[in-house]
Amino acid sequence: MKTHVKALVVGGGAVGCGVAYHLAKAGWETMLIERDELTSGSTWHAAGLLPLFNMGYATTHIHKYSVDFYKSLEAETGLNAGFAVVGNLRMAQTQERMDEYMLYSSVAETADVYHEFLTPAQMKERWPLLNTEDLRGALFHPQDGYINPADVTQAMAKGARQRGVDIVRRLQVNGYKWTGSEWIVTLEKMVEKGGNLVGSGELVEIRAEHVVTCTGNHAQRTARLLGIKIPAIPVEHQFIVTEPDPMLVEYRKNNPEHPVLRDADAKWYVREERGGWILGPYERGAPARFLYDVPETFRADLFPLDLERIEEEYMSMIHRLPSSETVGLKDDFNGPICYTPDGNPLVGPAPGLRNMWLAEGFSFGITAAGGTGYYLAQMMVEGEAEIDMSSLDPKRYGNWMTTEYAVRKNEECYEHVFILHHPDEEREAARALRTSPAYDRQKARGAQFGQINGWDRPNYYGPVDAPADFDHNSRSFRRGAWVPYAVAEAEAVRNTAGLIDATAFTKHLVRGPGATAFLDWFTTNKLPKVGRINLTYALTPTGTTRTEYTIVRLAENEYYIISAGAWTAYDQDYLLKCAEDKAPEFGHIDIHDITTQWGVFAIAGPNARAILKEIVKDADPETVLGNKRFPWLSMRNIELGMCPVRAIRVAYTGELGWELHHPIEMQNYLFDLLMEAGEKHGMKLVGGRAQNWLRQEKSYRAFGTELGRDATPLEAGLDRFVDLEKDFQGKQAMLDTGIRAKCVTLLIDGPADADPWGKEALVLNGEKIGRLTSGGWSVGFGKQIGMGYVRPDLAEVGTKLQVRMFRELYDAVVTEDSPFDPTNARIRVDG
Ligand SMILES: Cc1cc2nc3c(=O)[nH]c(=O)nc-3n(C[C@H](O)[C@H](O)[C@H](O)COP(=O)(O)OP(=O)(O)OC[C@H]3O[C@@H](n4cnc5c(N)ncnc54)[C@H](O)[C@@H]3O)c2cc1C
Repeated sequence: MKTHVKALVVGGGAVGCGVAYHLAKAGWETMLIERDELTSGSTWHAAGLLPLFNMGYATTHIHKYSVDFYKSLEAETGLNAGFAVVGNLRMAQTQERMDEYMLYSSVAETADVYHEFLTPAQMKERWPLLNTEDLRGALFHPQDGYINPADVTQAMAKGARQRGVDIVRRLQVNGYKWTGSEWIVTLEKMVEKGGNLVGSGELVEIRAEHVVTCTGNHAQRTARLLGIKIPAIPVEHQFIVTEPDPMLVEYRKNNPEHPVLRDADAKWYVREERGGWILGPYERGAPARFLYDVPETFRADLFPLDLERIEEEYMSMIHRLPSSETVGLKDDFNGPICYTPDGNPLVGPAPGLRNMWLAEGFSFGITAAGGTGYYLAQMMVEGEAEIDMSSLDPKRYGNWMTTEYAVRKNEECYEHVFILHHPDEEREAARALRTSPAYDRQKARGAQFGQINGWDRPNYYGPVDAPADFDHNSRSFRRGAWVPYAVAEAEAVRNTAGLIDATAFTKHLVRGPGATAFLDWFTTNKLPKVGRINLTYALTPTGTTRTEYTIVRLAENEYYIISAGAWTAYDQDYLLKCAEDKAPEFGHIDIHDITTQWGVFAIAGPNARAILKEIVKDADPETVLGNKRFPWLSMRNIELGMCPVRAIRVAYTGELGWELHHPIEMQNYLFDLLMEAGEKHGMKLVGGRAQNWLRQEKSYRAFGTELGRDATPLEAGLDRFVDLEKDFQGKQAMLDTGIRAKCVTLLIDGPADADPWGKEALVLNGEKIGRLTSGGWSVGFGKQIGMGYVRPDLAEVGTKLQVRMFRELYDAVVTEDSPFDPTNARIRVDG
């Protein structure tokens, strides 16, 4: 057995084998260790479905890669993994569900995933056992199906071995120690005792430059060993297998196998199994398991069946497949299935640790194993994956995350697998948890909150006396009931003033002798002078965008840097690691996360200055906010009533405005003061949805949509924030990458009842030539707006394209950057 390797993969389930295979394929000397037998975790009891359907861009790519890859494995390994390419039929009982499929169709088109739409009559003709009476239609993927989970895992393991991977079983990791250049991993030989798997006391050590943990249901133990938090906690998931159904057996004499059937509105999947059916429900009330550890007694075991819990889904299967009514049950499975609070796995660098990679929390691990291996190996070997993997990054949850939070969210996530996935969906579990002090005041004024990174932030302000079901009804794939409220808020910002709570912004203080040299190297733009601010970007070593920062220079060697609220731990991890690497070269750099010490209100609109003048305390209140004393893109310490405020003259909405950073404990005082002063100037409270529309009118890119690790800032069209005169991290790689696609803003003549969500395909002469990354309604232009990436030759202003929405094509035209007030006259206005 090797004791020194480049990469050590921990865990021999589908995911671990997929990762080991791809690391070896990428040329790394790799070893995989498994505490028990390969596939003995959740993998052995999976139903083996490989659904291509997924609403996320990264996950769609991952699933697509796996499905294609699994088809090629037999030729490579000689092992048949039993891939039944029977197709996958997602039925819709309602028009809302059809709308969901039509939105999915846009995502699928951007990732080249083939799919079809079928009518109830077409379904009935092909699969007469189906009751299609109450169906509206279906989405059909003819190219996926199901596979034998153990066999595909063994095939990946064989492929890995053929590429030199050492796979060792019955070794359990008991400890990790980082030496500064490699991991010393302590392992214990495991033995069987009375049916349990226990440690033998015999220890071995393996040294590895990189470690990937793929420990499935054991993620909490892994988290403890590493001293980090991993919100992967399994939930019970059951499926049942029926006796042969005589009508199915008869049908199959002359017909091919049924596709995997999904009645999403009834919350189940069904597939054929030896003349009978497998029913897999995603029912209410499935409990989380193994909150702290997997007991020694639980090996390749199952929980008892809870038939009562799935009665509703069982009955609805009988409704959809009436021939199953008289068929008895043959077998049942109730096993742990790992979840995370948002349902996406945790794939990428572990927080705070070097060369430690996580591939944890998979609820569709059979489907995702191949693609995860492929893209994770790219990240590890080449520095970045070809797609932006940030939606899967383990650091999308911060240290605020607790076991109970993960339990509540993971249970909710399981139950929500088949709910309608509206893009404006907000889930209720574990709310409100992180709130700014003004939360109650905002709520009393009708705020409807959305949760991001644990924070409850106003999405929009609805009617104060709304009926109890208002929030629920406001969701839609087209235009939710919230839209008129967001329109009024956007108009207020354009015409009078709006007040936005931006407290969740990530805020770091960077100071010390090395701070200036470090930030100069770390970011693309020139550093601002003292008292001034700049927009700038930190790049990955491969030259793509890692983080967008607003940098405020407080003193010669002291900076207040602000980034997106959703990404605190993600931004912090990179900042700290880069600073640690550079301190020997640049001198000591002190970094503090001060996110929760400072509240932020953004005030914007033509009346913003008049409102602040009412409450500002200064020897000369008339001039303190004027262009001379307080120019655009500068910072001043001012006093609003009794509140000391670090005011920053920027506005993400494109209007005259300030961000008012204030001591968090004074937030309610400041809120009341601003509300009172704003009243006579027509100021409205404004939520994140209106703000998102307004920033698109100014072509302000957002992190997670236009900005990510799959595009350089030059591709994002941010050349003016990139100082090519200086040296900075990722510069050469950025230049070498060239321009593969270009970010543009589009004005769209869309449908009468819907706006784009930023998931849609962009089309020219019937050919897909790009995709939207943001979308919405423009109050400035009275039509739909969007931002996205297109082929570079199509980025010219005036280029006419089309956007596919609800399977129809709508005209769109590439506009100049910042189509609303392109000269920024409104932002710079004096007074
Ligand atoms: C009833 C049911 C049906 C399912 N159906 C599907 C489906 O149709 N399609 C689909 O895609 N997914 C399905 N799933 C989910 C799927 O089973 C999992 O997502 C997948 O198996 C996860 O694979 P994994 O490799 O991450 O974890 P696991 O298979 O659990 O593997 C983790 C491995 O790590 C090992 N390990 C842990 N800690 C250590 C350590 N310290 N040292 C050494 N080894 C360690 C464990 O022994 C284990 O073998 C289903 C799940 C259930 C419960």
